[in-house]
Amino acid sequence: MTPLYLTVTDKHIKYSYEDQNTTATVQQDYNINPKLPLTENFTNFKLKLPEYFDVIVILNPIDVEMKDTIVSCQNQPIDIGLYMENIFHIPTVGIHQVAKLGLKQAASIEAEYAGWHLDYYGYESGKTQYSQEAMQTLGNGYFGLRGAYVESKADKNNYPGTYVAGVYNQLTTSINSKEIVNEDLVNLPNAQYITFSIDDTEKFKLNGDELEDVFRSLDMRTGLLTTTMLLQLKNGKRLKVVSRKVADMKNYHSYSLQYTVQPLNFSGEMKIHTEIDGRVVNANVERYKNLDSHHLVTDKTINEQNTAILLAHTRHSNINIAVGSKLDSPNLNDLNVHTDKAHDKVSQSVKFDVVEGNSYTLEKTVSVYTSLETKGDLVEAVKSHSYHKTFADAVNNSMECWQDIWSNEYLEIDGDITSQKLLHLNAFHATVYAQQNVNKDLDVSVGARGLHGEAYRGHVFWDELFILPYYNLHYPDLTKSLLMYRYNRLGAAKEYAKSNGNVGAMFPWQSGMKGDEQSQIMHLNPITNQWDPDNSRKQRHVSLSIAYNIWNYYSMTNDEEFIRDYGLEMLLNITKFWISMTDYNEETGKYSISNVMGPDEFHEGYPDNEESGLTNNAYTNIMTSWVFKKVDYFSSHEPQDILDDNYKRADFSEKDLELTKKIRHNLELEFNKDDILAQFDGYFNLKPIDFDYYRRQYGDISRMDRILKAEGDNPDDYQVAKQADSLMALYALREPTFFHIMSDLGYEIKDKHDFITKNIEYYLSRTTHGSTLSRIVYAMLALKVNNNDLAWELFSQALTSDYYDIQGGTTAEGIHLGVMGATLNVVTCFFAGIDYRGPEIEIDPHVPPSWQSIKFNMSFKGTHFYFTVTHDQVRVIPDNDIVVVFKGKKVQLDAHKEKMLNY
Ligand code: BGC
Repeated sequence: MTPLYLTVTDKHIKYSYEDQNTTATVQQDYNINPKLPLTENFTNFKLKLPEYFDVIVILNPIDVEMKDTIVSCQNQPIDIGLYMENIFHIPTVGIHQVAKLGLKQAASIEAEYAGWHLDYYGYESGKTQYSQEAMQTLGNGYFGLRGAYVESKADKNNYPGTYVAGVYNQLTTSINSKEIVNEDLVNLPNAQYITFSIDDTEKFKLNGDELEDVFRSLDMRTGLLTTTMLLQLKNGKRLKVVSRKVADMKNYHSYSLQYTVQPLNFSGEMKIHTEIDGRVVNANVERYKNLDSHHLVTDKTINEQNTAILLAHTRHSNINIAVGSKLDSPNLNDLNVHTDKAHDKVSQSVKFDVVEGNSYTLEKTVSVYTSLETKGDLVEAVKSHSYHKTFADAVNNSMECWQDIWSNEYLEIDGDITSQKLLHLNAFHATVYAQQNVNKDLDVSVGARGLHGEAYRGHVFWDELFILPYYNLHYPDLTKSLLMYRYNRLGAAKEYAKSNGNVGAMFPWQSGMKGDEQSQIMHLNPITNQWDPDNSRKQRHVSLSIAYNIWNYYSMTNDEEFIRDYGLEMLLNITKFWISMTDYNEETGKYSISNVMGPDEFHEGYPDNEESGLTNNAYTNIMTSWVFKKVDYFSSHEPQDILDDNYKRADFSEKDLELTKKIRHNLELEFNKDDILAQFDGYFNLKPIDFDYYRRQYGDISRMDRILKAEGDNPDDYQVAKQADSLMALYALREPTFFHIMSDLGYEIKDKHDFITKNIEYYLSRTTHGSTLSRIVYAMLALKVNNNDLAWELFSQALTSDYYDIQGGTTAEGIHLGVMGATLNVVTCFFAGIDYRGPEIEIDPHVPPSWQSIKFNMSFKGTHFYFTVTHDQVRVIPDNDIVVVFKGKKVQLDAHKEKMLNY
């Protein structure tokens, strides 16, 4: 092993290592610049060092029980271990661990630990704390429970939100004399609240001043979130408080909490207090504060000894909700529960005597039922809920479930513990949001921001396109359940098309409870504090992404039954809609699609008329042609009776089919003289923008739309994009498919490599990455032109976007599920290079230089694969005989036999 030794003090880092060339010991000091943030200091420090270390050893950790890598730096305790791991991507261990276990074992235990834990050391406030809560959210597909301190109540530093998938409610608020209807994913009664009091004094309220030390650790292997606090109260009393939370992954109505207090310098009387609080509102998103947020009405509270139930309903959607809880303790005898009932809250407390140094534990299991998934009496459901006997049972159960989940979603990255941790985290949150055995009982899909916060109000967008491929690899039945959410709202999509003067199905840009359009008509610009019109609903391409997801699910599973009963009907309806969106130009013989927006939300329309949307958005037209081709495929492959039945259900005729054939060869695209594909008709007439000028003025220019609007200018006037748009089709489709469609459309691209290179360069230099979905798409596009450095840079930024909350506060309002799913897809489909979007698996790896190998498993058309991909070899074991395409050549694989493919 090649260690780097560090002694970190308030002002310096003393470091030493053995020079690999001379074997001499190098010993030096690095001065910490007090004017720079610590991360910047440590990043600069890294730049001074060679790159051959595989472990860092901290020689002077402070003696704290929580971790062996805490030091004092700039006069505050910090977890230098975490800083170093995040910057060097190698394990960092404290000297005490090394003394105990030896360097090799300490490093290997830490490498394993780091890959599976999301830890935060120290107290944070404001948006940072909000975003950490989002990142430590627990859940099971049914509910999401933000990782707030259990002692906290909603305020500017803490937001203990609870959400159940599909529980939406609509409210109307008058803004600028316009009636704004907002349908929100409802924040449910807070049952995770627990705190303590000593000797009948006031209840402990969380605030940074009394926190001597705090460490929060999410163990993704087990789903257990542990918070350890050392408190020094104003009255001099010291305590250690450990709280733990776990979501039940099997009996998905339930989560469990454990709360342990240990008086460190006093004896006396203590109480632990808990609540189920129905007075909560939706207040996670500052921008929505002018909108009515009181979604819940509390109906009743019931309590019997150690149990409590609160019943509520949503004000408009009338969903009944029951939250129950049961208190227990492993070491408090004869639990003496005192209950205070108010109309909208149940408070319970348990009193006991404490002796200095001893620990006392209260356990609380919570159950949540709603009338959405539970028929019959909710009180009965709560009363007959089978709670875990002890918290330990709940943890064991969670551990077993997560073990199964992780063996299904196995993904190992050798050589980079940061990537390993964050990819696990992305997969963790994908599971927190949706699970096969839970979603089969629900009528929901996955919203853009998870069950983790309130941004975008829990609505479902085209972001499904970025996450469903991940579910396809591991749980195709889950994808099917999510697609059923769309099928169940096909009626609403048809209504929507009709109201727009079209036929077929026009799915809404933002979908909530019923599948009607939930996009806002006004949007608050936080720079000007003004409400601007919001035309984002014109992103009709959401229907194309639904078609894409249907095809991918089918292609991965061959689920004919799904196509017969639901999939084809949706595809035909979507097709009818797009036919009705086209205009035929007699003179040119070409078809156009107008009045739409592409994924780039900076362009809502033309400079002189933003109301009218855009014409011939390249992504929309290419994907429309692609969908029509798929419909053509089904119409020649499905048995006649199935076609007849589906045509009838979708009111689709042979004439429609003939039209699709004509349209898909003649949709208009525009190119300039350098073969750049225009984002839409007239794009090249827009003005270029002086990015450097705006960067100098504003620093962060990712939301260039808001900046321009605040300056009285209009983003529609400029060649500036929020995210990948023209090139999105090249992300979604395999390269040969993309070029086939182009040639179908009559645009034969001669030099494909040159086309991709030039277009990526052109659009990348005009994109500000105002959406987290942008960088990951460009990362994959950069791989296409072998710009591996750029691909890695963009991938790393995308991978860490929620971890570092790079948009400066948006993670506080929920994770970005789309980018999480897309990073997982880029790793398997493009870095490991196992492309599963065609009829056969195609293998063409691009393993990043800093990774040694990517190991993972996946399923494709009923065959389960285990892959190990290194820089020069792909090792694969399938569980069936199957043919794959390796670097363009067909290769036969035999069931259960390892095949090595060298490259
Ligand atoms: C992006 C959209 C995305 C939405 C929800 C927006 O910022 O521009 O593409 O669907 O966020 O994630």
